[in-house]
Amino acid sequence: MAFLDLYLNKALVFPREPSVKFPRDHPHLFNLSDNLAFFSRFPLLPTTKPKVLFVLGSSGTGKSKLAVSLALRFAGEVINSDKMQVYDGLHVITNKVTADECAGVPHHLLGGVHPDADFSAAEFCCLATKIADEIVARGHLPIIAGGSNSYIKKLIGVDGGNFSRRYDCCFIWVDVDLTVLDEFVAERVDKMVEKGLLEEARGIFDSAADYTKGVRRSIGLPELDKYFRREAEVDEAERTAMLEEAFGEIKANTCRLTRVQREKIRRFEVEDGWRLHRMDATAAVVRRRELCGGMVWEETVVGPSIETVRRFVGGAAAGFVSKRSRMVAVAMDTVVVGTT
Ligand code: ATP
Repeated sequence: MAFLDLYLNKALVFPREPSVKFPRDHPHLFNLSDNLAFFSRFPLLPTTKPKVLFVLGSSGTGKSKLAVSLALRFAGEVINSDKMQVYDGLHVITNKVTADECAGVPHHLLGGVHPDADFSAAEFCCLATKIADEIVARGHLPIIAGGSNSYIKKLIGVDGGNFSRRYDCCFIWVDVDLTVLDEFVAERVDKMVEKGLLEEARGIFDSAADYTKGVRRSIGLPELDKYFRREAEVDEAERTAMLEEAFGEIKANTCRLTRVQREKIRRFEVEDGWRLHRMDATAAVVRRRELCGGMVWEETVVGPSIETVRRFVGGAAAGFVSKRSRMVAVAMDTVVVGTT
């Protein structure tokens, strides 16, 4: 059973059994091509599992844009994994991609859930798996993109319905230096205000609201609560001051969120042993206002991501050796070689 588990996880296993003497430090391990006789006895299973691409990253790093670019090149469909964007409404506050930005690429789990419902990670796993199956049945590539890393952790973890056993997974991480990202998200909040953040928040304001449930947990709503309660009682100057304060809080809370998200992604790599393909989008964010900004994004993020996905869909899967596989391997005293 343990062997099957490792085999299904696309790891090569060399059992230490009396009939097959192959100790961990055997010199052949370092020169695999000289060892064809041995490998013919332990061939890699042909990859039959469907492939799923993940695009991870903190808020504001450009993962939605990258997901669309990759979907256009690899016949993909995007499954949203942002826990606030699954709800209906709040397009500006939750930064949902617009119809134009989707560029004809189908997006799933983007809205559709009632704003008061508590959409759990378990529900996400169930729906994301079903949708991924449907996308694969259409001959397309599922691309799971969004910032809610607890959803991803649950999906890939042992309680996520065996997702990582059923699919070959490849993870792209769009990363931006946090101080650079701070400036960008602050600027983005100003743009959101121009696009109607205040009116959108007023539309859902309810003086009896519970900000720990449903879409009301979104950054942008709790921060404006005090303003909506008092705006009718105060003069213009105070209203302006209160709004400035609320917008400042929204910026600070978004910056805090990007740090938490980045730390969670880093832990996937360091603690869970996931193989993440990190794309550094710092230069693209720094130069976003320059004429060459789009080109820098294409060259430093889109191009390398396309190469990664091409290798992933074209050859052996760029998967990972799961923490569980590694633990079982240690327990079996075996050597596990992950696929690349
Ligand atoms: P946790 O389990 O801590 O919620 P997570 O990784 O699933 O972790 P995140 O997506 O990082 O969750 O969201 C954490 C919080 O940040 C949300 O509960 C919400 O308050 C806010 N948030 C997340 N995404 C958005 C968004 N798109 N728009 C507005 N606020 C958001």
